[in-house]
Amino acid sequence: MTMTRHTRATTLCLTLAVTLSLVVGLMLAGAPVSAAVAGRRPLMSAEIGRGDPAAYAFFAEIDGEPIHWNPCRRIGWRLNLGRAPDRARPQARKALRRVNEATGLRFRYQGRTSARPNARGRNYPRDTSLVMGWSTPRRSQLTRGQAGVGGPQWSSTGEIVSGFVLFNAKIELQPGFGQGTKFGYQGTLGQLMMHESGHAVGLDHVSDPAQILYSMLTDKRATWGAGDKNGLRQVGKRAGCF
Ligand SMILES: [Zn+2]
Repeated sequence: MTMTRHTRATTLCLTLAVTLSLVVGLMLAGAPVSAAVAGRRPLMSAEIGRGDPAAYAFFAEIDGEPIHWNPCRRIGWRLNLGRAPDRARPQARKALRRVNEATGLRFRYQGRTSARPNARGRNYPRDTSLVMGWSTPRRSQLTRGQAGVGGPQWSSTGEIVSGFVLFNAKIELQPGFGQGTKFGYQGTLGQLMMHESGHAVGLDHVSDPAQILYSMLTDKRATWGAGDKNGLRQVGKRAGCF
């Protein structure tokens, strides 16, 4: 495999209260990928959930198929708890449990790491292909006001080979998965964790504010919307093994 690396155009997003998140993806090798297409191929069976069931978008597609992890292998993941808020671990585990429920992808927590979350999976331990952690705009690709960034790296076959989720340690969000505060930064840490994890499994932003993959954090409860569920299902077990 040639190892020319392509960096996909980044997508910025912002919230009412300045909170932003960003998606970053990297493709290893070969052919260019098509841009994510919003709302294609809605499933016939309407999922229960908020908002528009067709409101999902894939990060990238290869030969008409969304890039995705290999659902036949467990995804080893670790937390870098440097600068993490209180009770970050149970919230991160809960967010990935929700990704598991919606996708069928299985995650295995391998413990803490000092490796920094990064788009190339650089310096990840051998048993780890996804790292979540915290940093500051000064020390990372985050910009001021961005709550988080997340994304996958994938091969020319469309298999996601590593992922990362990075949170802004300077932005304190309400903990948990509820509605969060009406004032200040909207949304919760749970909502942000689900959002960035959604990027890490291959989803892009949508314009429906009812979805977790909406580009801004809002005061909705942190549960998957109808479009989120449809998108997640299609990048999960259903997508088939590599
Ligand atoms: Zn985002």
